[in-house]
Amino acid sequence: MALERLLKGFADFRLGYYHDHLDLFEKLATEGQSPKILIVGCADARVDPGILTQTKPGDIFTVRNIGAIVPPAQIPPDERQHGTSAAIEFAVRGLEVEHVVILGHALCGGIAALVDGEKGAFAHYDYLSTWTAVAQDVRDLALKELKGLPRDEIVRAVEQASVVNSVRNLMGFPWLAERVAAGKLALHAWWFNLTKGQLYAFDSTTATFKPVLGIAVAPTVAEGTSLSAIKPERLIAAAGKKPGF
Ligand SMILES: [Zn+2]
Repeated sequence: MALERLLKGFADFRLGYYHDHLDLFEKLATEGQSPKILIVGCADARVDPGILTQTKPGDIFTVRNIGAIVPPAQIPPDERQHGTSAAIEFAVRGLEVEHVVILGHALCGGIAALVDGEKGAFAHYDYLSTWTAVAQDVRDLALKELKGLPRDEIVRAVEQASVVNSVRNLMGFPWLAERVAAGKLALHAWWFNLTKGQLYAFDSTTATFKPVLGIAVAPTVAEGTSLSAIKPERLIAAAGKKPGF
């Protein structure tokens, strides 16, 4: 049943969207892709970056994983399979995107699993906890600093701080940091609240996530931005002072 729905959807797409955008698909097929934006999003079925941003084919290069996480750069590179890093490398070095957006979200099961740790339902999985442990320091700090707050608020704090942590990890890739320093690339930390349909962007000057209302958003990291301004620790500290942010 579920698969039949997909095939019906594809039939509708072919007769509708594809037919209506023949020129676009022909251009993309002959000229190739040249997206200006890389989005690192979560694999969660509820937060499709293309639908959330109402973009067209060719507009955004996307990599989705558990938790919208960017792992630290492996320097020097080793022989292991770094899927997310490979996608980031291709987007930045190959496609020369001008923006990288880390798109975290509310009610993120991956981040909740990280917060719950060994007590969680997924602790026995083969790969999940190793992957989300990229944000282990953020999680440990949140549990310490936000002790006493409801679990949901701690999870939210870690969701947001993990996005900022991923931006910090991006800056560990030398070819990416070079492009930021040259003013060719801007980094953005976003968080989508699917219960309210609202998008938030991290403001590194105040260390808070602010609602985006269809207006221009300052990048979290652009040329000249101090890395000290994007410490996720600041975000967690702010969360502790403002329960229910
Ligand atoms: Zn998620």
